[in-house]
Amino acid sequence: MSVGKQRTIATIGFCLPVSGPSPTTHGPALCHYHAMSQSTGTIITVAPTGAEHAKSDVPNLPVTLDELVRTAQDCERVGAAMIHVHIRDDDAKPTLDLGRLKDTVGALREQTNLIVQLSTGGAVTDPESDRLRVLDAMPDSASCTMGTVNFGEDVFLNRWEFVVELHKGMIERGIVPEYEIFDLGQLSSLQRLLDKHGLPAGGHVHVDLVMGVPGGMPGDTETLVAALRLIPEGATFSATGIGRSTLPVMLASLSAGGHLRVGMEDTITYARGERVKDNAQLVARAAGLARIAQRPPLASVHVRELLGVKGEKGLADVAV
Ligand SMILES: [Zn+2]
Repeated sequence: MSVGKQRTIATIGFCLPVSGPSPTTHGPALCHYHAMSQSTGTIITVAPTGAEHAKSDVPNLPVTLDELVRTAQDCERVGAAMIHVHIRDDDAKPTLDLGRLKDTVGALREQTNLIVQLSTGGAVTDPESDRLRVLDAMPDSASCTMGTVNFGEDVFLNRWEFVVELHKGMIERGIVPEYEIFDLGQLSSLQRLLDKHGLPAGGHVHVDLVMGVPGGMPGDTETLVAALRLIPEGATFSATGIGRSTLPVMLASLSAGGHLRVGMEDTITYARGERVKDNAQLVARAAGLARIAQRPPLASVHVRELLGVKGEKGLADVAV
């Protein structure tokens, strides 16, 4: 791996401008500031369900297709541009059933303008073959977790060969990956993946830092700053903090030019002693903070352009 392909703090300092942004077209190698200035707005992704919470413990968790679509519409209305989807079966248990996944992608495309991202993580017990088959549902985007991590009591297994298969499968199908990072070393693995197997579909690298998982990196400002140095040159990044790290990570990401993922997959507590009302409440809070940071939520049509996502609701198909 080449050190030259990673950001350095010195590079960040050198590139920061003294006056306003000057968005232009750039070559593939972007300095930190120019990568950020491509978008002064904020991508807000909602992760409404996940595979961890039980419906019996969290009754307002969206688990049916109707609930998911309604949540997606509500979240889009208040600032989400992308939805990160895990689905459930008739018993509200996590499933990777391909038919259901296809129906879900279809319904979300039909009834929202959101970029539809399917999780390929599934639940920690899902076999690799089922996780790879998720790509056959042909979402706009899919997650690609960059390594194995302890996940509470469980192990979330992501062998190198499996990661490479996911990456290649997405290139073949034109699906734009979001590289999920649970620990800092996984950013080195991402650089290795790109060096060996090339850029993803769409040609742009987008990373999601999932912080505060018990077993992964902590969800705090110091760790987010440490991650900046390792994010591949020219990449954009989102961050999400699990549980009580939600707010510190959100604020740190905004201040560092990053984007946001929020949702009941990651937290079911809105404030101390107060349960989340619904996913739209979390998106609205993120959108409000993004506006305060003068980096307002980006509409999905602009996020498609930024991330290189094509599809039925790409730039050519949607009135701007
Ligand atoms: Zn997920």
